[in-house]
Amino acid sequence: MAKPENLYQCQTSNCGYLYNPEKGDKKGKIKKGTIFEKLPKEWKCPVCGAGKKMLKPLG
Ligand SMILES: [Zn+2]
Repeated sequence: MAKPENLYQCQTSNCGYLYNPEKGDKKGKIKKGTIFEKLPKEWKCPVCGAGKKMLKPLG
């Protein structure tokens, strides 16, 4: 299980997308095991398109 501090949740209203490093992001071509900090700067939430700074750690 990923630790809560490694899970990042999108903070925009009505989104709630959770980035789980164990799953990566298929849509954004992010491999499994990629921690949030290692995501490219231009990465966007696959659900609402928000930038990285809109996601905050759960833990
Ligand atoms: Zn989002």
